[in-house]
Amino acid sequence: MTANPVLLSFGGNLGNVEAAFDSALQALEKNGFHSSAFSQIYRSPAMGCEPGAPEFRNRSVLGIWNGSPEELLNLIQRLEVQAGRPADHPHWVSRPLDIDILVMGDLVLCTERLTIPHPEIANRDFVVLPSAEIAPELTVPGLGKSFAALAAERKHLFPPENQNK
Ligand code: AMP
Repeated sequence: MTANPVLLSFGGNLGNVEAAFDSALQALEKNGFHSSAFSQIYRSPAMGCEPGAPEFRNRSVLGIWNGSPEELLNLIQRLEVQAGRPADHPHWVSRPLDIDILVMGDLVLCTERLTIPHPEIANRDFVVLPSAEIAPELTVPGLGKSFAALAAERKHLFPPENQNK
């Protein structure tokens, strides 16, 4: 199955996160993901994690994937484990690398393993703002809103000092 373009969100807050992002991007490329744009790295406080957790870094990556959504999920889960994240992890804990599939073309999918578009897109500044930087016109299927529109709705919540310009 092919549904393009694909938008991914990279996140992490443990160890050398920027190096983990670079390695993951290289590994994605080696395994058939063709990236066309990536955002700057944005920083935000660790919310909902353990007390004293380091701040998060996030970036969005746009590209083309010619395999199935499940194959892409398998690949990103392998990369998360390689970066040091336990395969069996609770949701709200610090992690060296987390990759979410945000959007895959106009695909709308809800299975036991995958929900696409990612259901939390509109609630997360650290997803909306980097995505609006590289794919402002991309519309989130189901929501019917572009990332530019979502960013305009959320900008007042996100002070500029939290952005790594
Ligand atoms: P998290 O702890 O937030 O990284 O969630 C990982 C879990 O979310 C995995 O078990 C995935 O199967 C599931 N999942 C559901 N939808 C998605 C998606 N769009 N992208 C990545 N993981 C997803």
